[in-house]
Amino acid sequence: NVKEFEKEFSEYIGVKHSISVGNGTDALVIALEALGIGEGDEVITTPFTFFATAESISAVGATPVFVDVRLDTFNIDPTKIEEKITPRTKAIMPVHIFGQPVDMDEINEIARKYNLKVIEDACQAVGANYKGKKTGTLGDIACFSFFPTKNLGCAGDGGMIVTNDDKLATICRGLKAHGSGENGKKAYNILNNINEEVEEDNSVDNTVYNPLKYYNYLIGYNSRLDEVQAAILRIKLPLLDEWNEKRRENAKFYNQQLSNTELVTPNEDDYVKHVYHMYILQSEKREELVEFLKENGIATGIYYPVPIHLQKAYTDLGYKEGSLPNAEYLSERTFAIPMFAELTDEEKEYIVKNLKKFGE
Ligand SMILES: *Cc1c(COP(=O)(O)O)cnc(C)c1O
Repeated sequence: NVKEFEKEFSEYIGVKHSISVGNGTDALVIALEALGIGEGDEVITTPFTFFATAESISAVGATPVFVDVRLDTFNIDPTKIEEKITPRTKAIMPVHIFGQPVDMDEINEIARKYNLKVIEDACQAVGANYKGKKTGTLGDIACFSFFPTKNLGCAGDGGMIVTNDDKLATICRGLKAHGSGENGKKAYNILNNINEEVEEDNSVDNTVYNPLKYYNYLIGYNSRLDEVQAAILRIKLPLLDEWNEKRRENAKFYNQQLSNTELVTPNEDDYVKHVYHMYILQSEKREELVEFLKENGIATGIYYPVPIHLQKAYTDLGYKEGSLPNAEYLSERTFAIPMFAELTDEEKEYIVKNLKKFGE
C-alpha cells in the first residue's frame, strides 16, 4: 500500500517522485536536510503558520527569518522578502496557509535572482492550485501532512515529500530510513560525487530480511508512513477533489451570508484555487464572539494566537512586538468556524444565524 500510494499521489499531484514519511514535520526536516541546509544558514519563511514550519528550519541547525504577511491572504508578502536576504540565506519556505496558494511566481523570481531553493510547506493545501498548477509542483521540493485534521487525513500521522528532482528524491529516500540500504548508498554517492552503479538485488525475497538494511551510509531518521495509514489514504485520495469542492461551496455560502456583517470574510486571489483547509473570519470582538458561539454549541479555533516570531521558544531571535505588524494584527482577530465537506445546510444556516445574532 505504501508503494502504491506513493505512485498514486505522484499521479495526483503531477510530480515525478513522492517519498512517504511519518508526518509533515519530518517531511520538512528531511527536505531541508536533503537540500544541504544546516548550521549557519538562514531560511526565509512566514510568522503566521503552524509552529512546525519554523521548527523544521531550527531542527536542521538553520535560522528561520520571518517576513510579514499580506493582510488579505495571510500569506507571506513577496514584496518584503528581498530586504531580508543576506549572504547566509539559502532558501525560502512559503506556506500555503489555510489552503490558499502563495504567489509563487514572485517567490520563484526572487529565488532565481538570489540562487535560493524553494521548499513549499503545502501541509494545508493538498489539491489546491496556483494558475492551474497544483501546490507541490511550484518549487524545488514540497511537503504534505496527512494528520487527521488536514484536507487529506489518515487515522494517525503521515506525511509526504514530493519533487521532480531525481537526486533530491534519492537523498530523501536514504535519509528517511537511517541512511541505510540501496537508497542510503545511492544518496551517499550523490552527496560525495561518487559515480558508481548501485545494484539492487532482486534475486531474493528481501521483504522479510534485507541484509543491506544493516549497512548505513548516512546519519538519517526513522520516518515511515505505516502500511495501514497508506491503505486508508489510498481509499480517500480519489475522493479528495470532491471534498475540496464541497469546502469551496461552503466557503461561498459563508462569504455570501456574511458579506453585510462586521466580520471580515476571507479573500481569494483570482489566480488560485483555495481549498479552505480552514475558513477564517476576523472580528474586533473575537474573544466574546468565540465564547458566544461556544455557548450555542458551535466549535471555533484560533489560528494562530501567537505569531511564531513572538513565541517563547524563539525569544533568542530577538523579535519584538511590532516587528511584524500584519501577523500580529491578524493573530488578535482571526478565528476559524466549522469547515468540512460533510457540513449540512442546516448546520451552515445555524452557524450563520448565530454569527449574525451576535452582531445585533
Ligand atoms: C500540520 C502542519 C505541519 C506539520 O504536519 P504534522 O504532520 O503535524 O507534523 C507543518 N506545517 C503546516 C503549515 C501544517 O499545517
